[in-house]
Amino acid sequence: MLFIELAQTFEKMEKTRSRIELTYHLVELFTTTPAEIIDKVVYLILGKLGPDHESSELGIADKIVIKTLSHSSRIPVDKIIKEYNSIGDLGEVAYKFLTERTQSTLFAQVLTVDKVFSTLLKIAHTSGVGSLDIKIRLVNSLINSSSRLESKFIVKLILGNLRLGIANFTLLDALTLAFTKDKKNRVILERAYNVSSDLGKIAATLANGSLSEVQSISISLFTPVRPMLAERAVDSPEALKKLDGFGLAEFKIDGERIQIHKQGEKIELFTRSLENVSSNFPDIINMIKLLSPKEMIAEGEIVAINPNNLRYLPFQNLMRRRRKYKIQEAVKAFPVMLNLFDILFIDGNDTTNLPFLERRRLLKFALKDNRSDRIKLIEQTQVSCTKDIDAFMTKALENGCEGLMLKNPKTEYRAGARGWAWIKLKKEYSGKVIDSMDLVVLGALHGKGRRVGKYGALLLGAYDRVNDTFYTIGKVGTGFTDEILSLLSDRLSKLVLQGKSPRVEAGSLMMDVWFEPRVVLEIISPEITLSPIYTAARDAVNLGNGLALRFPKFSGKIREDKLPEDSTTIDEVLELYRNQFKQKSN
Ligand code: AMP
Repeated sequence: MLFIELAQTFEKMEKTRSRIELTYHLVELFTTTPAEIIDKVVYLILGKLGPDHESSELGIADKIVIKTLSHSSRIPVDKIIKEYNSIGDLGEVAYKFLTERTQSTLFAQVLTVDKVFSTLLKIAHTSGVGSLDIKIRLVNSLINSSSRLESKFIVKLILGNLRLGIANFTLLDALTLAFTKDKKNRVILERAYNVSSDLGKIAATLANGSLSEVQSISISLFTPVRPMLAERAVDSPEALKKLDGFGLAEFKIDGERIQIHKQGEKIELFTRSLENVSSNFPDIINMIKLLSPKEMIAEGEIVAINPNNLRYLPFQNLMRRRRKYKIQEAVKAFPVMLNLFDILFIDGNDTTNLPFLERRRLLKFALKDNRSDRIKLIEQTQVSCTKDIDAFMTKALENGCEGLMLKNPKTEYRAGARGWAWIKLKKEYSGKVIDSMDLVVLGALHGKGRRVGKYGALLLGAYDRVNDTFYTIGKVGTGFTDEILSLLSDRLSKLVLQGKSPRVEAGSLMMDVWFEPRVVLEIISPEITLSPIYTAARDAVNLGNGLALRFPKFSGKIREDKLPEDSTTIDEVLELYRNQFKQKSN
């Protein structure tokens, strides 16, 4: 398949703001893509070179691409930089400056999807002495062999800023339609995705095999399973009701969720967003090596601790372990511990279909030889009345936790699913602050005064799972230190879109900049009110009005561990809104 065919589809997709149209373009693309390269096409659509847990960074800086473009177009570097500063996207700059004429004289080879993919992979995998020169040569070869349109997308892929607005869920829809012609089969694909976290693999299995082969994709070591997620209860009576009167309550620790894969001495750690963070936690890996199961997939919360009394420390301390260099120094300076709460696989057996009570027993068994005080089973107790829950909540808060997780003892592990089998219950409402919410940054207004050159207010959104859409809920401009504001501006500037994402419903609200919905912030707000401006739960409480945060404030926590789809949902916001009145009437 020629790369130009893919580039033409990308061009159509970039111009589309409708989800249905995007799905249509994807279906058309998949039906014409040869089976041997369909996995590569899927990864490229997502701007990646493999599944999330394997995807490699290319390590190419803007200035290298600028030099290459200058060389190919014979336009001076400073003119290219000027244009880049004004457009903000080097792919678009390439499209503007690389005329077809300059390209055709340099035409060296016809680019296929396979060729582009393998060259990008080579760029990513080249390392060591002299690697930069090799990378530059490879970038040059790609740009010099491509047409204007091709180079636009090649540059975007190289710099990691191809943003077609395609969510994994849209891809699943399109794959179902293209290969099975029946929307009902989506659940089969979704299950396979939840256990394999690899859309390319699912596409290739469908294209080369059959739906029943997709059905038999199962949990496997070193392929992260998409995590089971919790619903939020507003108080202990609601939680108990959802558990049918009996549950297992656990500490909800303010750390980072880690999925551990172990096979003998080989151990890998994945975050909730499926990032491989093994290199950050050599101390934890050494302790896991000593556990008795030969093979194991388990989950737990890593938390920063005070080494003198093993007390939990807030999340921010743990984030200091997330670095590329000087890992051993960080291990000493910021000690952590692992609190295990689930087991998905042990010595050849998939345990996800067992009830939680049974999995807990197996987890305890897996830890039987553990001698380290830095690994333990999470604190757990049985609860059958609100008094039990409230007492355990007090204990959890005294121990520095953020609340409780309440779990149904009978339920299996539901990969990738959020439901009432797991319920999170945070601190009791103080009456002043409702609760924290994890909201996605959708857009921004330019900063004024001290914030000139940075973003001022950030537009926030909550997620609706049914429509896979983000709805607006307010703007936040307080709670940011200068340091965090710079960091955020940096991160967000890489997510700028030409217009609003097709996954965002913002009504008639105008912003200076729109972003790809990706960055999740923890926000606190004293109240949720009705508003004609915002679209969250519009018409659900009152016709013409949506829900909005009153005086929202950033808590200081960027939720690096959360995908935008894991943010607070519209249903949760509605529940929190309604709960305010319950609180007042009590
Ligand atoms: P939230 O991030 O508020 O949606 O809450 C879910 C997160 O709580 C999980 O992804 C875990 O990182 C964390 N967590 C802390 N303690 C537990 C626990 N005992 N069981 C499950 N998740 C926990």
